[in-house]
Amino acid sequence: MDDHFKKVVAHCKEYGFVFRSSDIYDGLGAVYDYGPYGTSLKNKLRAYWWKCMVQLNEEVVGLDSAIFMHPEVWKASGHVDAFNDPLIDNKDSKKRYRADVLIEEQIEKLLGKADKEVAKAAKKFAEGFDEALFRETNPRVLKYNEAAEGLRERYAAAAEKNDLTELYNIIVEQGIKCPVSGSGNWTDVRQFNLMFGTRLGSVSDEGLELYLRPETAQGIFVNYLNVQKTARMRIPFGIAQTGKAFRNEIVARQFIFRMREFEQMEMQYFVRPGTEMEWYAHWKEARLNWHLSLGLDETNYRFHDHDKLAHYANAAADIEFKFPFGFKELEGIHSRTDFDLKRHGEFSGKKITYFDPEIDEHYTPYVVETSIGLDRLFLGLLSACLQDEQLEDGSSRTVLRLPKAMAPIQVAILPLLKKDGLPEKARSIQKELSSRFEIQYDDKDAIGRRYRRQDAIGTPYCITVDHQTLEDDAVTIRDRDSMEQQRIPVSQLGAALADTDLLFLVEKYNERLSKSKF
Ligand code: ATP
Repeated sequence: MDDHFKKVVAHCKEYGFVFRSSDIYDGLGAVYDYGPYGTSLKNKLRAYWWKCMVQLNEEVVGLDSAIFMHPEVWKASGHVDAFNDPLIDNKDSKKRYRADVLIEEQIEKLLGKADKEVAKAAKKFAEGFDEALFRETNPRVLKYNEAAEGLRERYAAAAEKNDLTELYNIIVEQGIKCPVSGSGNWTDVRQFNLMFGTRLGSVSDEGLELYLRPETAQGIFVNYLNVQKTARMRIPFGIAQTGKAFRNEIVARQFIFRMREFEQMEMQYFVRPGTEMEWYAHWKEARLNWHLSLGLDETNYRFHDHDKLAHYANAAADIEFKFPFGFKELEGIHSRTDFDLKRHGEFSGKKITYFDPEIDEHYTPYVVETSIGLDRLFLGLLSACLQDEQLEDGSSRTVLRLPKAMAPIQVAILPLLKKDGLPEKARSIQKELSSRFEIQYDDKDAIGRRYRRQDAIGTPYCITVDHQTLEDDAVTIRDRDSMEQQRIPVSQLGAALADTDLLFLVEKYNERLSKSKF
C-alpha cells in the first residue's frame, strides 16, 4: 500500500471517520462502518448531490425504493446471467484476482514505461525539449505505446466475447505475476456472479429466493410508470435516488474503494429516442462540473471512455479520480438505451411506454444515467485533502483541507482558559450558533494542541474566547488553511462562517453550470 494511502486509512480510524465493521471481532472483509465525523461528511456529500441533482433540476424527482426486489427484476435486467467478474487464483499465494484488472494494470504499466522515457528525456534536454515530437519518434516510447495498444485491443476482443481462455492466455503470455507470491502459477479463469443471494419467508428452504440489489438503478426502472404518472412528469425527466447496494466483490483490498456493501447515488434520465447522445454529453459535462465545484484541483479528474460497453449501453464513460493508488473510476455516465424498460415490459407483461404529445407518438424512453459511489467519493476527497504541512516555525501539522462546506464540524469554540467566566461566555456563543452550525466545544489542553485536533478533522474555523471577549464581545477567529487570525464581533460570526454552509457550494455549482455550453 502506498504510504499516503496507509496514512489515510489510519487517519480515518484514529479520528472516527471510518471503522472496520464488527471491529472488536477483527472486522469483516470489505465491510465498513462510519464513525461520527465520517457520518457527518457522508451526509453532507449526499445532501450536496441531492440538492444539485433534484432541487436545482425541476425535472428531476426523488425516489427511495426497497433493497429487496422481486427476483424477476434481476433476470430482466441481465444480472442473473451477466453480472459476473472473471476471476483467477494464484496457486502459490492462494490469492484471488480479477483477470480483467490484472490485464488493465498491465496496460497501465506499459503506458507508464512510455511516460518514464518521456520524463527522462525532458530532464536531459531541459528547455529545448519537444515532448510531442519525442512521443511521435522515440523508438522506445513507440514500442511501449504499441504494445499497450495491441494488448488493449486483444483484451477488448476477449472481453467482448467473454472468452475466458483468451484472458488466461493473455495473463500467461504477458508474464503477469502475482504481487504476493511473485509467481505466474495461475488457475484457469472462471466467471463469478457478484450478487448476494438470500431468502424471503420464515422457512428457509421454502422461501422465495432473492438477491440483495447490486445497484439502485433497477428500483428506478421498475417505478418508472408509478413516478411518471403520479408526479405528472414529461420527457425529458429524471428520477434520482441514493441507497445501499451489495456486491460480492472478488478482490476487495482497497479500503472503502471497493466494498461488499456500499452506497450509490444514481439518477436515471428518461429521454426521447434519438436524443440520448445530446443528453449523454450534457450529463457528462454537468457531472464533471459538480466534482470541480468541490474545489479540488482539476488535474485530479479525467474522463475514460469505455472500449467495452455493457450489454445495455450504447455509450459509457467514467469520471476517474486520482486516488493514492492511481486514476480509478469514481462515477459512471451511461447511455443505457431502452434496454431496461423494454426488458421489464417483457418480463412483467406491463406496457411501459410514454406518450409524447409533442410528436404524437408512443415509445419506450431511452435512459442516460449518472451513477456514483458515495464511499468512493468520500475516499477520494479524504485522500486528496489530507496533508502534512511544514510550518514556518519549524513545526509540522496534519491538516484535512476539506471543502469548508463539507467539514464534519463547521466551527470549534475554544475558551482560552477554563476559568474567569470564559467557559460560560464560550458556551453562550455556542448556544447562539448551534441551530445553524455543527459546533465542537473544546477546553482541554493548550490552545495550540486544540488547533491541531481541529486541523486534523478539517474544521474550517476555530473561535477563541479570551478575557477581552468579556469586555468587547469580540472573538478571535482562526482560518484552518491560512492559519490567519482575526478579531471580529460575536454579532458578525454568522456572516464569517457563511462559506461553511452547503448553500455556498450549491451556488458555486450553479455558477459553473450557467457558464457551460448546455
Ligand atoms: P468497478 O469497475 O470499479 O467495479 P463498476 O463499473 O462495476 O465499478 P458501476 O456498476 O458503474 O461500477 O457502479 C457505479 C458506481 O458505484 C461506481 O462508479 C463506483 O463509484 C460505485 N461502486 C461500484 N462498486 C463499488 C464497490 N464495490 N464499492 C464501492 N463503490 C462501488
